[in-house]
Amino acid sequence: MTDTYTRLIRTAPGRFLAKRAGLPNPPKLARVDDRPGAVLGPVVVLGASAGADQVAQILLAWGADVRRRFDGLSRVGSVVVVLDEIEHPGAIGEIVLPLAGAMRSLAPGARIVTISRPATGSGESLSREAARGGVEGLVRSLGHEVRKGATANGILAADGVALDAPGVQGALRFLLSARSAFIDGQFLAVSTSEGELPGDWDRPLAGRTALITGAARGIGAAIARTFSSLGAQLVLLDIPASGTDLARISNELRATPLQLDVTAPDAPERVIAFLRERGIVLDALVLNAGITKDKLFANMTPERWDPVIAVNIASQLALVETLLGTQGEGAAADGSAVVGTPVISSALRIVSLASTSGIAGNRGQTNYATSKAGVIAFVDALADRLDGTGMTANAVAPGFIETEMTARIPALQREIARRVNSLQQGGQPLDVAEAIGFLSSAPAGGIRGETLRVCGQNIVGK
Ligand code: NAD
Repeated sequence: MTDTYTRLIRTAPGRFLAKRAGLPNPPKLARVDDRPGAVLGPVVVLGASAGADQVAQILLAWGADVRRRFDGLSRVGSVVVVLDEIEHPGAIGEIVLPLAGAMRSLAPGARIVTISRPATGSGESLSREAARGGVEGLVRSLGHEVRKGATANGILAADGVALDAPGVQGALRFLLSARSAFIDGQFLAVSTSEGELPGDWDRPLAGRTALITGAARGIGAAIARTFSSLGAQLVLLDIPASGTDLARISNELRATPLQLDVTAPDAPERVIAFLRERGIVLDALVLNAGITKDKLFANMTPERWDPVIAVNIASQLALVETLLGTQGEGAAADGSAVVGTPVISSALRIVSLASTSGIAGNRGQTNYATSKAGVIAFVDALADRLDGTGMTANAVAPGFIETEMTARIPALQREIARRVNSLQQGGQPLDVAEAIGFLSSAPAGGIRGETLRVCGQNIVGK
């Protein structure tokens, strides 16, 4: 789904006019169907640490054309900047400045990925903290500067996490691939060495079963299609009023449909009964069902406020508490545990849908932003609760994504909203789905409590 302006700008007269008038010229972003290879080569690995050598070896094992310098390269597909041992801001330039001279040689859709350690807030070494924090400014600025659909993102591997840990390898492969087309200027933090490398990187969800809420259309339907292509078996949930669409996508993907309103008081118990009846054990739970009821706060009413909170966050709290209760890790709303035949695996991946509105707030969306900021805090706390269990919880925060939800925004406001990011366009539902696919995979076991923005580096928020 390409918007009208972008279709126009991709014609010869449109391109000419845009250039003359200084209008945005959004690049065509390659998705995985256009560029199935894991790494766009040649890939240059910068850095002199043992970690840099390790990363170069990993890329070689993936079949990439790996170089350690830019010498003689007229076209650069990817750059990995390894900054894992920096102890002072003065050490960053030496490693990264060779990239400056190669910026104009970056291929369309090129990827820059830094690998560094997160600032810890400890007073032990002020220069190390400043160096680590500095990488954030570097990556976010590179994200604004790269052109032609190229992106810059970073991986933050916690102290003690080796650079060949499953989470680091998984994040590197994801950020280098076309699967991260609409992620720019962001960091993925790998906080533990947990997780496993997949048997097949192209089908990392093979043999896993996922429940996706709000799956009849929009982002939920894209998540279902992506999960299916990554090998997952699916239970697809949506309200009875969306039954026709739900049946269609369930037939298409050979998935099991579940018609249910997630806000029904007995919804969690009905989900559990449904799974038990069919002997289904979930490896992934995607909490995607969501609604908007926008109004300036001066005109806000309980009729607009309450359903948004109920669907977007309260339903998630109830379902997750009850599901965890089946394993003695949580409790149902009435405080009782619903222990019995397991319906969730001990390596469950929970991914919830937040929004950039939940990070930066948004005019007319007090109710929605309250619910989505709640989601961000919820997954953070849930990850803490799940520490040591093998299960993880994370969120993705989409920016402007082209769906029926955003099609309802008034035309001028919509046109502005889709342009105010580094990639000058709205994302596709597929972009959000790919991020959730990665966070639901086995290698992502060391990524927990994170909110990954899929927003093309939208200027709102951090
Ligand atoms: P959408 O309106 O196209 O689809 C939402 C789906 O959720 C629908 O199929 C709907 O029937 C279902 N649903 C709604 N209430 C439900 C309920 N009570 N029980 C079960 N299912 C229910 O929306 P979308 O754009 O695909 O958004 C999906 C998620 O992504 C939402 O959580 C939304 O807040 C979030 N999001 C979207 C955007 C965007 O730009 N589209 C941006 C940020 C976040």
